[in-house]
Amino acid sequence: MAASLVFRLHNRGPQLVREVLLERGWKEYDERKRKEEDWNLYWRGSPFHSSDYHRLLPWQRLNHHPKTAGITRKDSLVRNLRRMRATFGSVLYDFSPTTFILPNDYTRFLAEYNKRLPNRERSTCWICKPVDLSRGRGIFLFQDIKNLVYDCSVIVQRYISSPLLMSGYKFDLRIYVCVKSFHPLTVYIHQEGLVRFATEKYNLLSLSNVYAHLTNTSINKCGPFYKTQKEQVGSGCKWTMSKFRHFLQSQDINELFLWQRINNIVTLTLLTVAPSVPSCPNCVELFGFDVLIDSRFKPWLLEVNHSPSLSLDCQTDFSVKKGLITDLVDLMNYTSADSLRDRAFQTQRNIRPCFNANLSKPVTLVSKLKDHNFKKKNKKSLQIQHEKINQAKFSQHDSVAAYQRHLPPVVTRYSEVNTPAGKSCTGQTLNWILGSYSKANDSVVKTGPALSSHQMKYGPWVTEVTNRENTETDAETELSAENKVSSSVPDTQGRRSTFRLSKDSWRFPDIYRRSQRVHVQGPKAQIGQHIPPIRVGGFIRTFPFNLVTLKASQEKLDVPVILQELQKLTGRVASGQWDDSKRTKEEETDDEVCFDSLLWGPEDPPQLSRWFEPRQKK
Ligand code: ADP
Repeated sequence: MAASLVFRLHNRGPQLVREVLLERGWKEYDERKRKEEDWNLYWRGSPFHSSDYHRLLPWQRLNHHPKTAGITRKDSLVRNLRRMRATFGSVLYDFSPTTFILPNDYTRFLAEYNKRLPNRERSTCWICKPVDLSRGRGIFLFQDIKNLVYDCSVIVQRYISSPLLMSGYKFDLRIYVCVKSFHPLTVYIHQEGLVRFATEKYNLLSLSNVYAHLTNTSINKCGPFYKTQKEQVGSGCKWTMSKFRHFLQSQDINELFLWQRINNIVTLTLLTVAPSVPSCPNCVELFGFDVLIDSRFKPWLLEVNHSPSLSLDCQTDFSVKKGLITDLVDLMNYTSADSLRDRAFQTQRNIRPCFNANLSKPVTLVSKLKDHNFKKKNKKSLQIQHEKINQAKFSQHDSVAAYQRHLPPVVTRYSEVNTPAGKSCTGQTLNWILGSYSKANDSVVKTGPALSSHQMKYGPWVTEVTNRENTETDAETELSAENKVSSSVPDTQGRRSTFRLSKDSWRFPDIYRRSQRVHVQGPKAQIGQHIPPIRVGGFIRTFPFNLVTLKASQEKLDVPVILQELQKLTGRVASGQWDDSKRTKEEETDDEVCFDSLLWGPEDPPQLSRWFEPRQKK
């Protein structure tokens, strides 16, 4: 009998997540019927407790990484961006309006306020926001300091007073960012997003009119003009990102440069906290980045939401958010290994947390690793890993990273960039990953199950294969043997039907077997890292975006190198010059690097390698 995947929703929400998962054949966790740990995904709108991370079992995922409040709390974000600006300069970190945290920064704010006083006739406005509220609650605008009244911790930020307007209406962008992993940093941005409009015309003479100055849906849906047909905007207060792209195309701008700047905002913001987020391989997080574009087409970061709203207020919400959550579940890549949960609970074996709570004791960890059934069959890699573990000083990161390598391949499912002699790159891996962007995928599209409209738009399901040569764990083998495990995991059933499984196999067919080894030339030959898929449904990988950033993000984040690469890329996109002569993946030969990325944002995302130097031939 196939084991179902089980999801657990805190406080019974959000309904959209329930709907998507039930549609995919998941079961909802019921505390009366199931044991405390008998689930695969726990979804919470609020942060998890640290004990939740320490108790995680190998087949369990959480929808938040630990310690990300550094970007999701308004005051912490300000501090972190300030620190990055002080360390790396303001050339790249110039996307956040001048901000002060009150009451602490009051004197500094006063100095800045006075400095700007002579410009008051040019509408120097400030916006005051409580640090830990959302949905526009407690926000007000002011020009005169005597109107600044607050009774809790707030930030006061320069108000972007000349936003880009659509027929006189202000708007901002809600961009959905998935951090698949912080160690190594792996970031995806969804092609769909929301454009959120104010419902009254922008007017600096009425600063108290929230319907003209704030773009929060929670505010505007209560406004008097919400349902009115507004010029160009229409009724309601939301557009899809696709509709916005068409608007952009009618503007006389370098559209790709705008998208790249937004990409930069996301990467640079995540870099502020990435080194301090503990490694938790079984976590994934969906952030909502709010970006305002000014009249000169410069994007500004307003805030980062830790649990972007998944409520469905209108048809636009429905089409954007349903596709988003569907793709998010795909990105989490639930596979056969996750059905181990069911068998572990049947047999009461292997129910042990992923993390060693006492991370300061290396001996405990090593003995756990030895003792633990999750050790890999591949003795050589085990030996190397043990050597590494013995050498390590067992800082928290080191310990967890070492342990993570012993988890079932739920965390190590990407195709490898490796350099064994004689292995060549056929480009097949990339073709699978590219989905509808790859000609080679045509056959899959034709022979697979009927595609939904969402799939038609973003390509077929992308399946990452977990079963690489001899890398299954003893725990998996043991459990599968004991229970004659069926090959079916409901969530992946539809996708796998295109791959023809043998009846008695519970593993995925090894479609990467011939193509997973990527031949990397010259000094880069030592990298030997995993490359995350270039896109999964509407999610496009935005980090790492080339081999240099891949390398710079593996062991320890090399922020200066990453910034250099970002700057280089942005400069080239800005100049509008790209290498049109660059060959497509299908034409690449074995001795070339099979690593590319797409530029998130445009309707038909171009390959980033076009902006980098043409590759050197041997
Ligand atoms: P909340 O978490 O309450 O939504 P935001 O920081 O997102 O707080 O602000 C709410 C809205 O206020 C934004 O969607 C935007 O329309 C407007 N806003 C916020 N900060 C600025 C700013 N610096 N300049 C212009 N508009 C802003």
